[in-house]
Amino acid sequence: MDKEVLEKYRKAGRINAEVRKEIQKILKPGLKILDLANRVDDLIEKKGARPAFPVNISINDVAAHYTPAVNDATKIGEGDLVKIDIGTHIDGYIGDMAFTYCSQPSHLITASEKVLEKAIKIIKPGVSVSEIGTVIEETAKAQDVGVIVNLTGHTLDKFVFHGPPSILNIKNDIQHKFKEGDVIALEPFITESNGQIKNSGTVEIYRYMMDRPVRLTEARNILKLARDEYHSLPFAKRWLYKKFSPIKVSLAIRQLRMVEALEEYPVLKEIEGKPIAQSEHTIIVQDKPIVTTRLSDD
Ligand code: MN
Ligand code: MN
Repeated sequence: MDKEVLEKYRKAGRINAEVRKEIQKILKPGLKILDLANRVDDLIEKKGARPAFPVNISINDVAAHYTPAVNDATKIGEGDLVKIDIGTHIDGYIGDMAFTYCSQPSHLITASEKVLEKAIKIIKPGVSVSEIGTVIEETAKAQDVGVIVNLTGHTLDKFVFHGPPSILNIKNDIQHKFKEGDVIALEPFITESNGQIKNSGTVEIYRYMMDRPVRLTEARNILKLARDEYHSLPFAKRWLYKKFSPIKVSLAIRQLRMVEALEEYPVLKEIEGKPIAQSEHTIIVQDKPIVTTRLSDD
């Protein structure tokens, strides 16, 4: 890997980890998740990175893709499993990290951290998707917990936040081997017993797909913003309210969705309502792998 590129991955990862450390100080029951999201956005910018996607703050049986709406009144509750998934980038080189907060001790959180650590330990050039899936599933099983079977890790590349192949969290036959310089995100989602997610109706996160003719001026401007300023990375609807009026945002998004200029990310929920904990790190594959989203004193 090019030295300059490596430095950008490391900087994005370091900022991600620093943001985590800062927000851990304010996490407590009663905190509005909208305030938390705004704090994350501010910290990322202040530290000199950009968000690679809107912070996901997904509670209990919500697995992912929940980011607060502009008027979201949700507060962290006592005993809630709050998954906080943060994306940062420097010139497109991404750090992707998630952890779970709970006001009470949670064996699901402990298990998710342990599973992730075990998986990170086997990373080296030549490791396969199959080997990673086996370690994740077996480590979960050894702790009497399960995984979400249809959520996966992934690779990262410049401005590509979910690259192939999918890194399954269960045993599988995928023989794809990672090589030196690959950047991967491992993210086990842990539940009491194996579970799975489905799309729910809510959408607050979108991404540029392609240029399409649309009538509304604001729709054209939002598409341009999504393409040029967000570089086709996911963005939050609430970010648009800084530049456009609420009524125009709704109309513009409806038009852009109709012509499939934007992709949407529906909130993902466990089908039986099982609570979930998630842990994630970004790792550069090499003989001595680098976990970019971890601070040296973590
Ligand atoms: Mn993530
Ligand atoms: Mn990820």
